[in-house]
Amino acid sequence: MTTWSEQLVPLHDLQSQHQALARDYVALQAEWQRQKQAASNWLERRGDELQAEAAEQKKAETLQRIFYRIAERATANLSFYEFLQTVHGLLGELLYARNCYVCLYDAQSNTKDFPYYVDERDGDRLQLSHVPYRRGLTEFVLRTAKPQLIDAARLQQLQATGEITQGSGDMSFTSWLGVPMQIRGVTAGVLTVQGYEPSVHYDASDADLLSFVANHVSSAIERYQAIDELRKSEARYRLVIESVGVGVVVVQAGRMVFANPSMVRIVGHPLDYLLSNHFTATIHPDDVAQVVERHQRRLRNEPVETNYGFRVITQGGDIRWLDLSAVKIEWGAADATLMFVVDATARMQAEQTRRVALQKQGELNDMKSRFIAMASHEFRTPLATIHGSVELLRHYQNRLRPEQKAEALKKIDDAVHRMTRMLENVLLIGRADAGQLEFNPQALAVTRFCLGLIDELRSSMAVRCDKVKLVLDLPPSDLELWLDETLLRNILGNLLGNALKYTPDGKTVFFTLQVGTDSLDIKVADEGIGIPEADLPRLFESFQRASNVGTIAGTGLGLSIVRDSVTWHKGSIEVTSQVNRGSCFSVVLPTKILTPNHQGTS
Ligand code: ADP
Repeated sequence: MTTWSEQLVPLHDLQSQHQALARDYVALQAEWQRQKQAASNWLERRGDELQAEAAEQKKAETLQRIFYRIAERATANLSFYEFLQTVHGLLGELLYARNCYVCLYDAQSNTKDFPYYVDERDGDRLQLSHVPYRRGLTEFVLRTAKPQLIDAARLQQLQATGEITQGSGDMSFTSWLGVPMQIRGVTAGVLTVQGYEPSVHYDASDADLLSFVANHVSSAIERYQAIDELRKSEARYRLVIESVGVGVVVVQAGRMVFANPSMVRIVGHPLDYLLSNHFTATIHPDDVAQVVERHQRRLRNEPVETNYGFRVITQGGDIRWLDLSAVKIEWGAADATLMFVVDATARMQAEQTRRVALQKQGELNDMKSRFIAMASHEFRTPLATIHGSVELLRHYQNRLRPEQKAEALKKIDDAVHRMTRMLENVLLIGRADAGQLEFNPQALAVTRFCLGLIDELRSSMAVRCDKVKLVLDLPPSDLELWLDETLLRNILGNLLGNALKYTPDGKTVFFTLQVGTDSLDIKVADEGIGIPEADLPRLFESFQRASNVGTIAGTGLGLSIVRDSVTWHKGSIEVTSQVNRGSCFSVVLPTKILTPNHQGTS
């Protein structure tokens, strides 16, 4: 065990221990001070850092909010100008942006457009287009494709080096910041802010911010340009469809859902009528079934002609021929038919005219042949008579008795008359064909006129008149009717002449006139050779003769003259006939009775 005295530490030891402790204490204190300072420094730094981080965070949030709003505005169906106005407003939240413009460069025309330009000095709000490309600040950004921060000193420097030779707008800014915009991969625009006050100084971080905004604006511009292109191309297609001369129609669910102005013109109905009725509403009733059938086959994807014609009836009641070509399409996600329609009326009319002309030509050729046949036959007999009589007179003049000479001369005279009548008839037909017959009705004592005509026939057809009985049933002789004498002579002379000519000896011809309230009914019936049924349809054509005439002379002109004269008198003619039994020609001429006592006879 140790004693207390043994445990006593010598004083100098204590002193030295104390000194050592005091040194340690100072050192500790210094260390503590240093560490305290370090901690305080760290805290201060950390505080600053946190503050900066918070500011950065806030800035990032602001940026994000602004970019979100730019993106949102870009799709908000605003006009391009309204969109840029919004961007300008939002830009003001990021940096000094009192003066701001957007420039778009058009490489094709080498000009600049300023769709948005707000500047306190250059005139508040402007929109400029086709501004010539020069060597200004905007062009400098376009050329360098980099953000450019310009103050007075830099401007001077750029001017000195010839980079900037022509400034546009007010150049007295204190700070100018322009950033390039990439549109479809090409530097094609500049977004600019500038300030005229001494306090405005844009820096690199402003340039970064503006570049971010410019990126968003560029995307929006691309979108606006695409929409604009689409609109323009739509407008171009619309213009083509609206102004094309072809009718364009879309039919869906049985109705026209689109019809261009040409369709309206071609069909001759207003647009609202076309759009509000079934698509067949204007089609000619006879053509509806086939149009509908083809339409349905097309919708069922069955084989069907792409082109065909049909008729429509216009609002005014005219019939038009249309040529149509159609295809099945999708219209608003449902099946429809796209139809192209051309007015073929003029062509159809031209074809019809050509057909008629051809037919006429054929008829004329036919008639010419018949005329030649008739002339070569009918002229030969009188010419032979003339020739024979002339020869007789020439060679036997001295030996002929006076009555023989007179007879030869009469034969010549008769033959000449016969030929003259034939030629007169040919000329008459020619005049009738050329529409040169005249209609001059006047008061005519019709019975007296008929009796006179019969006397003329008796003298010119003495032989026949002697052998055929003529039964007359005529109105009282004082009856006066409103008739054209020349036309009536053509009608009655030919009908009676034919009846006498084509009726065998001993048979009868009946001539009846009946006066109605406003017409004269003429009947010339006979018991003659009749007319074969096959010859009846063309009986009234010039130079047309029935197959059973045998050796009976004739030109085939008489009935043609009768027909034309009846037509000019606005009347009608009919014939009934039986071979070997006889024929009956009935003519009705409109007229009026001029003699007061007669109200019609029977
Ligand atoms: P044509 O000079 O031959 O008599 P028309 O034109 O007067 O000429 O008559 C045309 C044809 O009609 C005649 O050729 C004849 O075949 C027929 N025809 C006309 N009238 C009669 C009639 N009364 N009886 C029989 N045939 C007739």
